[in-house]
Amino acid sequence: MATVTENIVRHQLQERRQRLEAALQMAPREPQFGRLLKEVDEALARVEAGSYGLCEVCHDSIEQDRLMADPLVRFCLDHLTEKEQRDLEQDLQLAARIQRGLLPEKSLYALGWEIHYHYQPAGPVSGDYCDVVRPDGGAGDLYFLLGDVSGKGVSAAILMAHLHATFRSLVAADFSLGQLVERANRVFRESTLSPYFATLVVGRASASGELEICNAGHCPPLVLSNGNVTPVDPTGLPVGAFYSTSFSSRKLKLGKGDTLVLYTDGLTEARNADGTEYGSDRISRVLAGARQLTPEALTAACLADLAAHLGNAPKVDDLSLMVVRRAA
Ligand SMILES: [Zn+2]
Repeated sequence: MATVTENIVRHQLQERRQRLEAALQMAPREPQFGRLLKEVDEALARVEAGSYGLCEVCHDSIEQDRLMADPLVRFCLDHLTEKEQRDLEQDLQLAARIQRGLLPEKSLYALGWEIHYHYQPAGPVSGDYCDVVRPDGGAGDLYFLLGDVSGKGVSAAILMAHLHATFRSLVAADFSLGQLVERANRVFRESTLSPYFATLVVGRASASGELEICNAGHCPPLVLSNGNVTPVDPTGLPVGAFYSTSFSSRKLKLGKGDTLVLYTDGLTEARNADGTEYGSDRISRVLAGARQLTPEALTAACLADLAAHLGNAPKVDDLSLMVVRRAA
């Protein structure tokens, strides 16, 4: 195992040990504290012996994200006991429920804007990030956010929840869009292990049709206006990629009936059985041919075209799609 990871694990285990010892002093008769302390000591011994992170059955490496989530795991996913498998399954289902609870309303209307989205995890949980924040008590602007945390599965889902909380609290303060993403970048960077980052788009819409977009290294959202489709290219690097980085934004003005479409690469990089990617040209063609549809109908049209491309090829990546339209 890499030394950096080993140091993190050792540190985590020692911290756990201290907390358990403190708990044990307060409740010496609590049997589970003693048992947990023993497990922590055994894990520390494995770190010292160089066998930490290896499955005790097959001696292959245990999945990194599972070790990060629980440094006491001793078996790879293939070698869990039946009870461990059942527990894991239940944990995942609960995590999926909690994640669904973080999503905004499926269809909503505010300040003359209509929004609809589709959010589809590849597994039980998703690393895609999707949120809409309505103006507080009628004052202020409407914010919408769509992004993709690097990695997959539970680790990505935890980071997605972290982003969600960070932006929710920052949106309440009155920052410019660039400042907002800069601060989120700092918070994410300070509390995240280095290989993780997130690409995302933050949009702010006002009642007069003004739209401001910050695109932090994400797939370009598409503006649909009078049958023309124009991408909004990145205005900054992904969030969490570098400690100090600044983010600019682009200002647009949307007319009535104009639409902005945001998506994650689960859409454009979806491959059919021949290995052909769906691609951004194809989504642009669908949009160009679909005039004056409601956000819900446009979402359905995009998904139908994707389904026609995929045939029965399996879905391997999280997929999100959000349509933001200035009401006609
Ligand atoms: Zn194993």
